[in-house]
Amino acid sequence: MLKALGGTSDIFPAEAAAWQRVEAIARRILHSYGYQEIRTPLIEEAAVFTGSLGEVAEIVTKQMYLFQDRGGRSVALRPEGTASVVRAFIEQGLDKTSSISRFYYAGPMFRAERPQAGRKRQFHQLGVELFGSSSPYQDAEVIALMARLLDAWGIHGWVLKVNSLGCKEDRPRIVDYVREKLEPHKDKLCDDCKVRLEKNPLRVLDCKEEGCVKLGASVDVLAAICPSCKEHFDTVIRSLGGLKIPFQRDPHLVRGLDYYSRTAFEVLHGNLGAQNALGGGGRYDTLVEQMGGLAVPAIGFAIGMERVLMALNAQASEPPAGLVPQVFVAAVSPVQIPDALQLAEHLRGQGVPVLVNLEERALKKQLEYASKVLPKGTVLILGEDEVKNNKVTVRDMSAGQQELVDRGEIIRRLTEKIV
Ligand code: AMP
Repeated sequence: MLKALGGTSDIFPAEAAAWQRVEAIARRILHSYGYQEIRTPLIEEAAVFTGSLGEVAEIVTKQMYLFQDRGGRSVALRPEGTASVVRAFIEQGLDKTSSISRFYYAGPMFRAERPQAGRKRQFHQLGVELFGSSSPYQDAEVIALMARLLDAWGIHGWVLKVNSLGCKEDRPRIVDYVREKLEPHKDKLCDDCKVRLEKNPLRVLDCKEEGCVKLGASVDVLAAICPSCKEHFDTVIRSLGGLKIPFQRDPHLVRGLDYYSRTAFEVLHGNLGAQNALGGGGRYDTLVEQMGGLAVPAIGFAIGMERVLMALNAQASEPPAGLVPQVFVAAVSPVQIPDALQLAEHLRGQGVPVLVNLEERALKKQLEYASKVLPKGTVLILGEDEVKNNKVTVRDMSAGQQELVDRGEIIRRLTEKIV
């Protein structure tokens, strides 16, 4: 039997309804903040990611789906959204305009990770990217937007962590500071972190190994950032306070990718097990320039949609309202099937969602089916007499009552019921 690849899943209708609800809420909120959707390709030239995410970032070295296409080009399935959006932003020449651009995206990302609960090889992110502002108030607004999305979806108990990673000029100083603090205790670090200490010491701070966590406890990157970045971060924190958004300062939050600068943030959730990050983001003020554009400051975040749905399931929230039509057209005998089909099409043309029986089966079976899929809905029955007299028998499934109605009256009857 053919099966879906490990770490990928099919989303069947019952689950898709929850996805649609979550996405619909998100779009409404994103539009209310002035964000517009961008859809970028799922495959890109590999350099879009290798040149932006950092040479030693795990999503590049270990997790990227990288292959040669038929023309011998090196291409990759996108492991995240930001680099593609920046590529598109520059390609469109938007870095040369002075206005603020706000984009959001929603779609699949690909990482060759070891699959486990909450960690997939094809997963979905909803993300935003804002270009053209370095105001700390913008950071606060972007974080407020993320908080509003989580609240609007009905997720309880999320925890927001924030930190500052300083600017490009601060980076070598922070790296030296962290290396100096950790180097004397190098032998107590895990094997991966021994390598990280050489190549990218900041990553040691977000290692989850016990020894590394202990050693990192005395390190706070804020100690090594410049006064202007410190002031920027203070304003972000003050603004979050003013907006009454609960947060925790986390001196070890460094995020996995090299392109972040200044504000970094992450949202965790208690009910997700080991993979407890719902989403995260931060500033990336140098990435546009690094990818070949003008120097345009930017900030964004990405939320893992599978994890949002897991969090909602863990809370046993109300299942989303069914999306099955509440009207079923039944044919008493196969002779009336063409009439049933015409009536269904007529009603759909009037905006009424309808299921119709097009199979040769007994009325009893059709009613059994209707009571299963729309137990509180309405069945419209067409028999020989109904067709001859231009009428329909309208059966209310919850009351179990039925009556004969003129064809012209059906829409009114149905809308009365729906209201
Ligand atoms: P990142 O781009 O790594 O910051 O990820 C942002 C969010 O995407 C995370 O907080 C997760 O919610 C989600 N995410 C990342 N990797 C995976 C994965 N392999 N499977 C499912 N969700 C993921």
